[in-house]
This record gives sequence, structure tokens and C-alpha cells, in this order.
Amino acid sequence: MSAEIDFYELLEVERTADEKVLKSAYRKLAMKFHPDKNPGCAESEAKFKQINEAYACLSDPQKRAAYDRYGHAAFQQGGGGGAGGGFGGGDFGDIGDIFETIFGGAFGGGGRQQARRGADLRYDLEISLEDAFHGKETEIAVEVSQKCEPCGGSGATPGTSARRCNLCGGHGKVRAQQGFFMVERACPNCHGRGEVIESPCKSCRGEGRVDAEQRLQVNIPAGVDNGTRIRLAGKGEAGPFGAPPGDLYLFLHIQRHKVFEREGTTLLTRCPISFTTAALGGEIEIPGLDGKVHAIEIPAGIQSGKQLRKRGGGMPVLQGRGVGDLVVEIHVETPTKLSARQKEILREFQATETGEECPQSKGFFERIKDAWTDLTE
Ligand SMILES: [Zn+2]
Ligand SMILES: [Zn+2]
Repeated sequence: MSAEIDFYELLEVERTADEKVLKSAYRKLAMKFHPDKNPGCAESEAKFKQINEAYACLSDPQKRAAYDRYGHAAFQQGGGGGAGGGFGGGDFGDIGDIFETIFGGAFGGGGRQQARRGADLRYDLEISLEDAFHGKETEIAVEVSQKCEPCGGSGATPGTSARRCNLCGGHGKVRAQQGFFMVERACPNCHGRGEVIESPCKSCRGEGRVDAEQRLQVNIPAGVDNGTRIRLAGKGEAGPFGAPPGDLYLFLHIQRHKVFEREGTTLLTRCPISFTTAALGGEIEIPGLDGKVHAIEIPAGIQSGKQLRKRGGGMPVLQGRGVGDLVVEIHVETPTKLSARQKEILREFQATETGEECPQSKGFFERIKDAWTDLTE
């Protein structure tokens, strides 16, 4: 097990290596064998654990002295073990903790040189269904912090520059012994920057960024829907002290349309037809969002509420090929203003109705009659 391998060998350093050499060797190896870099590789994971064990021991002067004298025996069966305990068993506990303490946050990032990038921003934009159909080039104005031009984002008066923090020596972090571990914290003097600005830039008051209106050209692709998100890389808030900016996310909202409702790529509309067209059949014409007129055949005897589908009359597929369908829901209208002549014709028509012509209504009346008899009996 790990207990058999010499800690100095593991870290590939001389026995005389000083703290700095140890740390840099550890950092190099930890990066190489970190589980994030070697997903699923048990060998790397084991090696990563061993390296952490070795470094935790050798970076502590007391532990190191004990190790130099007694070797691994110093940490076995409680022999010579100090405050840490449980060290020799390979049960190292929270590797993540020590790793983060040393590297300062997320793997790969960390270190004061890679300052945090600016915040991501959200911008809500309402567009018409027509615009969603055709796509649109538009301009938006966003109030967002941007890199201060006079100081170039440094926060220092132009011509001057930030001075290295003398509390942390430019490290951005100060170290403190906390029980078994050496813990690093953000430097209270420079707040982790490693630098102090003695003469702050007047434009940004040392912030390195200023709020300003930004006008952005936005290209909205055809087929976008409610909730579609468009990312404008680097258009979010400027990072502090010249750090890279965040992203701007455009959230789209589609306005209600007078005629069409949208479900995915399907466009739905309701169309009134006369009862004569419903009875005799015919054709209706629907002007689509695509600018074309879609002729739709009405079969004779159609009922109110029936949906008719026209292939290809719907919304375009976002970043894809083809278009959805156009669905027309039929509503049969009952005439309200009949001329004397029309009434006469309809009465004549009514007289020809025997009930046989319309099997559905015949069944309906019989059912009502039965129900009525049941109630009166
Ligand atoms: Zn400092
Ligand atoms: Zn400035």
C-alpha cells in the first residue's frame, strides 16, 4: 500500500527539498493525477491519494521531522503520531479540502493571476411571432459595467500602476497553521489581489470598470420560441481589475398573436365557416405567417371543432431543416340575420328532414325520450 512507498520518492524530490520545491512538485503531480483529469482511472486516483498523503506529511515540519527519523512507522499504530491521527491507514479523509486549500478553489482555476471573470447577465426581450418566424436582426441597449478605458481596467491612475501587496508579498493569500493543516486565506490587505492601488483611477474610483450603456447587435435566428436563450459571449459585466467579462444571456418571449397560437413548430388557428359550407363542403384560404395563402379543403359534413392539418404551413425548426404544420380548427357558424327568402328555403329544407337523414340526431332524440320516460314513470 501507500505506506510502503517513500514520500520523497512519491513527490519526486530530494530529501533536502525545501518547502517551495515540495509545493511545486506536489502541485505538478496533483494536477497530473487529479481525478478530474483522469476520469475513471483507478490507478491515477490511487496515485493522487498517495501524493496527497505524502505532501500532507512533508509540508508539516513536525510530521516531516518524525517521518525523516522513523519513516512510515512514525504514523502507524499511533507511534509518534500527532494531532492528525489516523494518518497511516491510507484513510486520509478530505482530500478535496487540502487540495482546495492549496489551489484556492476550483480545479484548474485558482491562483490570484486568474482573477474572477465578470458576472453573467440576463436580458429579457419580447418579439412578435412574425419575428420568431422569420428571424430578426435587432439592436438592444444594456446598462452594463464595462472595462474602464482611461486605466485600461487596472483601477490605477493612468501612468501609475498597482503596487505589490507587502502583507502577502503579492501572493494574494496569507498562511496560517490550523491544527494539522497549513491553511491559506485571502489576504486582508489586498483582498486576494496581491496588489494594492495607491492612486485610484478617477474615472472608475479604482474599480477598473464603469457602468455604461452598451448597444448590441443581436441576430435572432428563425424558429425561436418562448424561453429560447441566446448567449452573447463576453457581453456581460466586465471582470474586476481587467479580468475577462461574463456573458450576456438573451431570454426570448414571444408576444401573443392575434391569429395564431404556437405549439412547438405547429401553428394553430381557428376558422369560422358557414353552416352551408360545413354541410356541403368547400375550400377555405388561410394566409400563413410564411406569406403564402394555404388552401384547405373542407370535407362535406364537417363538425364544429374538427381540426384540419396542412403539412408545411407551420413554424420553421430552430437551427434545423423543414417547417411544422398548420392546423385549422373549424367553427361552424349559425346564421343570425336571415332574409325572408332564406328563411323560406330553410323551412322548406326543414320539412324534408325526417331524422333518417341525420342518424346522430335521431339517436340523440331517442335517448332523450327514453330518459324522459324513465323520469316520469
Ligand atoms: Zn495582500
Ligand atoms: Zn479606471
